Amino acid sequence: SEKKKICIVGSGNWGSAIAKIIGNNTAAMPDKFEKEVKMWVFEEMVDGKKLTEVINTDHINVKYLPGIKLPENVVAIPDVKEAAEGADILIFVLPHQFVRRVCSSLKDSLKKSAIAVSLIKGFDVKEGGGILLISDVIEEELKIPCAALMGANIANEVAQENYCEATIGCKDNINGQMLKDMFQSDYFRIVVIEDETTVEVCGALKNIVAVGAGFADGLGYGDNTKAAVIRLGLMEMVKFCELFYPGSKQATFLESCGVADLVTTCYGGRNRRVAEAFVKSGKTIEELEKEMLNGQKLQGPPTAFEVNYMLKSKNMEDRFPLFTAIYKICKGELPVDKFMDCLKNHPEHM
Ligand code: NAD
Ligand code: 13P
Ligand code: CA
Repeated sequence: SEKKKICIVGSGNWGSAIAKIIGNNTAAMPDKFEKEVKMWVFEEMVDGKKLTEVINTDHINVKYLPGIKLPENVVAIPDVKEAAEGADILIFVLPHQFVRRVCSSLKDSLKKSAIAVSLIKGFDVKEGGGILLISDVIEEELKIPCAALMGANIANEVAQENYCEATIGCKDNINGQMLKDMFQSDYFRIVVIEDETTVEVCGALKNIVAVGAGFADGLGYGDNTKAAVIRLGLMEMVKFCELFYPGSKQATFLESCGVADLVTTCYGGRNRRVAEAFVKSGKTIEELEKEMLNGQKLQGPPTAFEVNYMLKSKNMEDRFPLFTAIYKICKGELPVDKFMDCLKNHPEHM
């Protein structure tokens, strides 16, 4: 079959780290993939220059992944439609709050046979109290299948080529193998499983737990407390999948997308870091996101809101006390020093 053309939709911290892997892989596998990889960049000015021009000249995303050389066959393009034109594989990697807008610009302009994979963590809310998977939004808007890649992958560490693992959830075995060829490298090891939905739900929910881990850190609790937050968080993740995504497999939680991503994010992630600062500084999460992340976006607080929107509409907040407490603290409805009280009577202990 002919060479597959790849487009990366997004170019933030993780998008840029993934672009490095993909660009190196397409250059190394010229019979499978078109060497040039198009990367959509949301255009902005950085030190008086267009970010796309800086990337295409210096091959560094100076704003979102400074210090890391990108392969020269990764080409930054400011127009998303142009970037995606003729692509066989679309890699969606942008903060989840922007997915709908980007999909609506891509509507009706893609190759009919294209496939997608989402690296995006979060949910979309639908009127009437429900939530949608981001991959389902992509599938519905663009009428193409969308798989998921999630794992214990703090972008800066992956960009340094430190050994790590990731999980691809893909219902179609042939596409799953093609995606594995495209993503895997000697330091980025991939396992493909069929349980697409659970892979993606794990990736979204762990960001809520990471906010809780940051609260515990900010309050000055130690490692035992954080381990308890992680464990209760994992139990709520499992319960959430059992209740709302029947058919999801427990074994998926043992893949990198499950327990491993949860652990790394509760120690090294941005959600944890900002939540700790929220406790210590008394500033709002929005202020801290601006101050601390230089344009990068938090996914945990919005995901807590999305999940609560659904739980509240189903009258099920009590069954998820950790998710619910984190939501209320982010919203300002509950003082953070009450966080542990919410966990003392967790259904797990009753
Ligand atoms: P990021 O947090 O670095 O966000 C910044 C990006 O958002 C920039 O590319 C910016 O141009 C873009 N942006 C800003 N305003 C926009 C708008 N109005 N429309 C479209 N784009 C806009 O992004 P990231 O780290 O690449 O994260 C993308 C997804 O990958 C998220 O769902 C995240 O949870 C997930 N993820 C991130 C990491 C990580 O370590 N960074 C690891 C795994 C998964
Ligand atoms: P943060 O967004 O909290 O940095 O988490 C990154 C991540 O998803 C690691 O897999
Ligand atoms: Ca899907």
